[in-house]
Amino acid sequence: NLKQFLGEIIERLQNKYPAVEFNFRKPNNDIIIQGDKTGLTSVAVNLLENAVKYGAEDPKIATVLRQNEKGGINIEVADNGIGISDKEKSKIFERFYRVGNEDTRRTKGTGLGLYIVNQIVLAHKGTIQVTNNRPQGTIFSISLPANDV
Ligand code: ATP
Ligand code: MG
Repeated sequence: NLKQFLGEIIERLQNKYPAVEFNFRKPNNDIIIQGDKTGLTSVAVNLLENAVKYGAEDPKIATVLRQNEKGGINIEVADNGIGISDKEKSKIFERFYRVGNEDTRRTKGTGLGLYIVNQIVLAHKGTIQVTNNRPQGTIFSISLPANDV
């Protein structure tokens, strides 16, 4: 039950990061899928932790869950943070890739998070895309195919 599943993860992170404004937009109806719960937890936590980590002074993170026209599922995580340039967008899913260099980086990490996220999404026959948020920040959008439970 993706609504409940994402709701619990967001609630946990809201408690962990009280200064961040988390928002969750979800449909009225339940969305039930078959998937790897541990893997999908990694996906959600990685994207949301990134949104916190590369966030703004006044961090706002919006998660949207919806059923798309094809009966598949979209999950969107949008932040108002530092953003990702077009040049970097294609590289961030590579193993160990991090934007910038050791001198300029303020955050710690291995650069593995999004690599793992992408692998798990692909294993679910899904896709992930990254676009700019407006007026600033980043949106990660995951599409998962319709699956019959
Ligand atoms: P970790 O392995 O701990 O997750 P990481 O966060 O550096 O380390 P990824 O999650 O793979 O690694 O992200 C890769 C890089 O993409 C980050 O280092 C950061 O430069 C950039 N990035 C990821 N998410 C965002 C975001 N929401 N806003 C801006 N930059 C981001
Ligand atoms: Mg990360």
